[in-house]
Amino acid sequence: MKLNYLTHGMVKKNFRCSFLGHRFTETKKINIHFSEYQCEICKLQATNDSRGHKITLTSKLKDINETLFYLNLKKQFINRFYFQKKEQ
Ligand SMILES: [Zn+2]
Repeated sequence: MKLNYLTHGMVKKNFRCSFLGHRFTETKKINIHFSEYQCEICKLQATNDSRGHKITLTSKLKDINETLFYLNLKKQFINRFYFQKKEQ
């Protein structure tokens, strides 16, 4: 199973997840490449790496995502501003 490494050490916490895999839902969209996910059942947080594989969300990764998220906001803001200016 692809998500096996995520479930390592979670066996006692949630048997269903370790057995069937986590049921991730997207909690936060960082940009078009990255999102944060949380398992509906055991509340494990995850994100995806550059290849699209889900990895456990550590505090370090959370910081990186936070930075990416704000960079993306900034980019969106600049784009909007630019296009608004262009339309006038
Ligand atoms: Zn789970």
